[in-house]
Amino acid sequence: MSRRGIFTRCPACGYGCDSVSGLTSSDRPADGDVSVCLNCGAVSVFAAAAAGGLVPPAPADLAEILADEQVRHAVGHIRARGTFR
Ligand SMILES: [Zn+2]
Repeated sequence: MSRRGIFTRCPACGYGCDSVSGLTSSDRPADGDVSVCLNCGAVSVFAAAAAGGLVPPAPADLAEILADEQVRHAVGHIRARGTFR
């Protein structure tokens, strides 16, 4: 289920989005939750106080995030498709 009215901007490519869809939950994302950019596949972390609402993960956290098969699948699919903007 997607939630509209949550505005984010990818720190890697600048793509802006006005909704989110959870892989495992339809709850509103909280700080520290993982985001995958629909445009470029970059992995980010929700941070409400940051400009754009997302920040890149700490390098030490990225390996742990990419250990999740669903995240790897989403990133791989988006990167194989290529950016749409
Ligand atoms: Zn992006």
